[in-house]
Amino acid sequence: MTILPVIPISPDQPDAVTTRRRPSMPPRHLADLDLAGRRSAVTGLGEPAFRAKQISTHYFGRLVRDAAEMTDLPAATRDRLTADLLPTLLTPLREQACDEGATRKTLWRLHDGALVESVLMGYPDRVTACVSSQAGCGMACPFCATGQQGLTRNLSVAEIVDQVVYLAGVAASGAVTGSPPRLSRVVFMGMGEPLANYPRVIEAVRRLTSPAPEGLGLSQRHITVSTVGLVPAMRRLIAEQLSVTLALSLHAPDDDLRDELVPVNQRWKVAEVLDAAFDYAAQTGRRVSIEYALIRDVNDQPWRADLLGRLLSGKLAHVNLIPLNPTPGSKWDASPKPVEREFVRRLREAGVSTTVRDTRGREIDGACGQLAAGELTHASAGGAAADAEVAQ
Ligand code: SAH
Repeated sequence: MTILPVIPISPDQPDAVTTRRRPSMPPRHLADLDLAGRRSAVTGLGEPAFRAKQISTHYFGRLVRDAAEMTDLPAATRDRLTADLLPTLLTPLREQACDEGATRKTLWRLHDGALVESVLMGYPDRVTACVSSQAGCGMACPFCATGQQGLTRNLSVAEIVDQVVYLAGVAASGAVTGSPPRLSRVVFMGMGEPLANYPRVIEAVRRLTSPAPEGLGLSQRHITVSTVGLVPAMRRLIAEQLSVTLALSLHAPDDDLRDELVPVNQRWKVAEVLDAAFDYAAQTGRRVSIEYALIRDVNDQPWRADLLGRLLSGKLAHVNLIPLNPTPGSKWDASPKPVEREFVRRLREAGVSTTVRDTRGREIDGACGQLAAGELTHASAGGAAADAEVAQ
């Protein structure tokens, strides 16, 4: 594991680690606005409307946010525009890499001292960003480090988008060894429950997928939104007519166990949540990804594999098994490999397409369920929750 250069946490920023200010939403940023909104912001500053497109091209098209690099703009204009439309939202506190530079985790401090993490994962044919949608998480899943810390606040649209734009810049610099320089995929599998921050996440998806200079120009199909199963929000998502991939964190095929592993199941049961997921698949024509962390002697029994197989057989669904990643103080661990293999075998026998997710980022606590920036101390950044690659 390599620890990359760090912006030191200086004693004059004590709130970065020890005392926290009350969480508050950040200043407005270009990425919060569509192009029309940027035009009115720019004219409000006394600049001609076409400047909106120029500054958007710098940010989304060239991944540039530093006024000094915007040489097509008069100096006074660029200072005024960047001060108003490109406030600093994310300050990197620590960057860690593993897998010979192919996996990189960044810990950010937000303007109010809240901490979040993002993970960049390089593959031979693609680069994926795993981003956070909330600081902390209110869903309280007992096996997830982020779930243990509670919710601090929702991220703004621009705080979400800026993670991706920043990581796209890292990829473009050639820093992700053995991968193409263009970031092409985004998974909402970092900290937080994306559908609990619904309007901002949807707006962020729109920004990420609008063509430059309005947005980053990614394909909707290359974006995955993962949820614990907030059924009304899943239904709202169906109505948006987007073609993003939906991932459902199921983790148990029966209500007794799922009530415990994913507490929101006490509100929306397995049958209801799967119905919503299948309806999403029918509407988009895209397979839903069923996430299932295999926990030794908890949810890995052959009968549960068979039950899951019956629930998913013949449906537009794919199972992603995640070997449980260790989290601080957890009493649980991953299933032994033979148990995992038998689970896979039974699902496939039922005709359900199944893969086991790689455990990218484990060494740097950047894997699924390990992101928990709230535990940061001066000496070490505790993990937060996010490896995450959906096998397509
Ligand atoms: N809140 C959303 C987005 C987070 S995605 C959701 O739950 O879907 C992170 C994924 O990692 C989820 O599927 C989550 O259940 C899973 N996960 C959490 N803790 C984990 C752990 N310790 N090991 C493996 N997977 C874990």
